[in-house]
Amino acid sequence: MQFFRTLTLRYRCPNSAKLIIALAAVALVVTACAAIVRPVPEAPETAEPADPAPYSERNRRDAMRPGSLYSELEAAIARWPEFAEAAASITFDDGTRDQYLVAAPVLERHDVRATFFLISHKMDRGVWVDQAGPRRLMSWREAARLADAGHEIGSHGATHVDLSRNDVNLELELDASRTQIERRLPGVTVRTLSWPYWRSTPEARKHASETGYIAARGGAAVPDQFRNLQETGTLNVPAMGLRPADPAEEWDELAAEAVANGGWMVYALHGLDNGSIPDMELGWEPIPDSELERIITRLQARDVWIAPFGEVAAYKQLREMARVHLEPLSYDRVRVSLRVDHDAEEIPPKLTVRLAAEGTLLVTRDEDNRGAEADLPAGSERSAVVSLRPNLDSVVIERRGR
Ligand SMILES: [Zn+2]
Repeated sequence: MQFFRTLTLRYRCPNSAKLIIALAAVALVVTACAAIVRPVPEAPETAEPADPAPYSERNRRDAMRPGSLYSELEAAIARWPEFAEAAASITFDDGTRDQYLVAAPVLERHDVRATFFLISHKMDRGVWVDQAGPRRLMSWREAARLADAGHEIGSHGATHVDLSRNDVNLELELDASRTQIERRLPGVTVRTLSWPYWRSTPEARKHASETGYIAARGGAAVPDQFRNLQETGTLNVPAMGLRPADPAEEWDELAAEAVANGGWMVYALHGLDNGSIPDMELGWEPIPDSELERIITRLQARDVWIAPFGEVAAYKQLREMARVHLEPLSYDRVRVSLRVDHDAEEIPPKLTVRLAAEGTLLVTRDEDNRGAEADLPAGSERSAVVSLRPNLDSVVIERRGR
C-alpha cells in the first residue's frame, strides 16, 4: 500500500480517481498472483516428433468424435509376416563341403533361404579335424556364392572349441570369428552364431549380446532332449538336431506342435548326402538329401514363414518392442505408423499390421512422408494389411462408406 500512498501524495488525485487507482492496483495484484499459480505448460514430449502437417481444429474434433475411424480402428501387429501360422529356419553347422554341394541345390530348388554357420578360422586351410577325423570345408568362394543367393552366413566360433568351458577366449571365438568372416566375404554382416556342441554359458551369451550378435542357436540331438530344452532367450534358441538314426515321425510331431502354437521351428543340420559325395566332404552324421526335401515340402504345405535364422530373430525382437501409433486426421482418416523407442542401428525389417473397422478401408500413401516404403494393398471390406518399418514408414487409412 506504500506504493498507492506515494501515488496519491505525489499527484494529489481527487477521491474518484483514488478509487480507480485502488481498483487498478488490486486488479494488478490479482493478475500477478494468477500468473504465478497457473501451471507452467509442459514441455512438448520429445519422444513423439511434432505433427508434420497439423490438421485443422475442426478436423481434429471430428476425428475424435464417437463413431470416427480413429475411435473404432483396431490395429494388430502380426506374430509373423503376412500372418503366417508359424516360422521356421533351416540352419547348417560347420560349413562342410556337402552343404554347398548337396544342401544348397535342394534349398534353391524350393526357393528356401537358409543359414550356414562357419568355423571361421578353419576355412582358410579348408580342413577341420574333429573326433572322427579330417573333414573338408567349403571354400570362401563357395560361401560367397551362398551369401549371393540370399542365404545367411553366421559364426560357429573361430576354432569349434566348446564355449561352455571356462578357459576359452571369447574375443577370438566370437569377435575375431565375425571379423574374419566379414573380411573374407565382403558385403556380409554376421549377426548370429550357433554354439559349438550347442553349449554355452551365461557369460558367453552375455559376451555375444554385448558385442552385437542379435541371436544365437543351441540345439538338441534327440526329440526327448529337445522337449526338455529351456529357451534362455534369443541367445540360446533351441533347435532340432536331426540325425539319420532318429525316427522322423517324432521330429514331425514336434514340428506340428510348433505350428499349432504359432512358434518358431529351428532345424540344426550337419551332413547332407546324395550318395555321390566322398566321405571326407561329408559333415557329421549326414542325413539323405531326400530328408531335407521332405522337411521343406512339409513346411511349405502349411502356411509357415521359412526364413534365415537372423531374419526371424530380428522380426521377433522388433515385433516384441514395436507399438502401433495412430494419429487422427479427420473423421474418416487416420495416419498409421509403428514406433520403437530405441534407434535402430540398421534399417529395421517391415512388420505386418492388420487394420480393421466397420466399412470399406482404403490404404493410401502418406503424402507427408515421402521416404515411406509401405506396401499398399487394395482396399478391402473391414480390414487391410500393411507392412511398415518402425520409425520410418507411415500410411494413411481412409474409410469409404460403412
Ligand atoms: Zn559344430
